[in-house]
Amino acid sequence: MPIPHAISTRALRVLVIGAGVGGISVARGLLRDGHDVTVFEQRPEVMAGGGAVTIWPNGATVLRQLDVDMDGAGQLLSTVRVVTASGRPVATLDLTAIVDRLGAPVRMVPRRVLLYRLLDGFPAERIRCNSRAVGVVNSDDGVRVEFDDGSWAEGDVLIGADGLHSMVRDIVGGRPAQPTGWCSWQGLVNLAEVPDKHVALMMIGEHGNLGLWPAGGFALQWWFDLPWSADFVRPHRPIDMIRANFTGWSHFADRVLATLTDDDLARSPFPHFRHPIPRPGRGAVTLLGDAAHTMPPTLAQGANQALLDTMVLCKALWDCRREMNCSNADLARALRWYENTRRRKVQAVSWVTTLQVSRSESVLRPAGMMSDRFMTWVLATFLHSISHRRMSAEISRELAAATTPVA
Ligand SMILES: Cc1cc2nc3c(=O)[nH]c(=O)nc-3n(C[C@H](O)[C@H](O)[C@H](O)COP(=O)(O)OP(=O)(O)OC[C@H]3O[C@@H](n4cnc5c(N)ncnc54)[C@H](O)[C@@H]3O)c2cc1C
Repeated sequence: MPIPHAISTRALRVLVIGAGVGGISVARGLLRDGHDVTVFEQRPEVMAGGGAVTIWPNGATVLRQLDVDMDGAGQLLSTVRVVTASGRPVATLDLTAIVDRLGAPVRMVPRRVLLYRLLDGFPAERIRCNSRAVGVVNSDDGVRVEFDDGSWAEGDVLIGADGLHSMVRDIVGGRPAQPTGWCSWQGLVNLAEVPDKHVALMMIGEHGNLGLWPAGGFALQWWFDLPWSADFVRPHRPIDMIRANFTGWSHFADRVLATLTDDDLARSPFPHFRHPIPRPGRGAVTLLGDAAHTMPPTLAQGANQALLDTMVLCKALWDCRREMNCSNADLARALRWYENTRRRKVQAVSWVTTLQVSRSESVLRPAGMMSDRFMTWVLATFLHSISHRRMSAEISRELAAATTPVA
């Protein structure tokens, strides 16, 4: 029998592929825990495109654990108003009640700002840009990643945080992401007159949906969801197509539509993708964030789930490292524990995001008859159930104890 290679309590050498929100957050957590971490990014610089993301209390708690200062970033929200395309109320969700129950704010924040906050205090020399990973060799002694320029790196663990079309997911045998048949035209616009900056609006129509969510200062995140297929042909003037679908839904939406131009739509649409959550991996390789569970943006949970992955994976590696003589086999077991711990929760979120949102007025009528208090309770309970609350509270307590100076 081969004697397993002992890693003992030395810092684990962790290779992270991808410097998005997922990759930087897990790297930040692992550096905090004393591991030797390097992030490899294919682009020439770390940058986040797109619009804004909603950070729910489950994600906000992890950001707090990572000591990310979110003060003043984006916009705190107090209410989500859901109405039909004709303005009939479906639900008014009281986010303050959710904040009270789950103990952290709900914040809309431009993706760029979130990434900058994650990078604040992050050692720049730990990120290697212009490094496109093209191959992984996963052996009993560790892992080796190869890059398109012929260079390579070796480590004890490799985390594939390389997003929607993950190369690492291919290597672990995960299936490619499939389009769901919908897409978002979305972005940020500066608008001086937003009715109430703490209130997010979502409107549901029979053939599409829209959202107008304040994202800090004058920034407003807008999105228009419409059906999409692989043979989609981009219209010559997309703004005309968007206006044709959504004009007249509300005064506020009309104001936004009047402000937007084809330039604002240049990077859209973003087709929605989803893939089956890969089965537990093998050896020293695992997945995190969109690479592990791409899902449509319906519940605005993608970044939050990447942050929860971070929390659980950091715990798995911390517990493993704490063991004296943590071998490669122990390390592989720790990664499988992380994957299994996340699996059921992520599957639940991913499944809910595929439910069809667009509905006719008549189908939405019964939902409108339920009390707002009940609907708020449903959302809070859902967020609670997908958030590893007990583990999260324990970690927050341990971190607070570790950083509180003894009197
Ligand atoms: C339209 C839209 C709206 C969304 N809205 C929300 C929201 O409101 N709330 C929310 O929580 N989430 C939202 N999401 C999802 C959210 O943005 C992602 O889930 C989140 O950013 C996690 O991303 P990630 O770090 O896993 O992947 P990414 O952000 O995609 O980062 C992957 C990184 O890996 C790099 N990379 C890829 N391949 C390689 C390679 N071979 N070698 C080296 N580097 C590589 C890429 O360049 C990239 O930098 C939305 C997504 C979309 C499309």
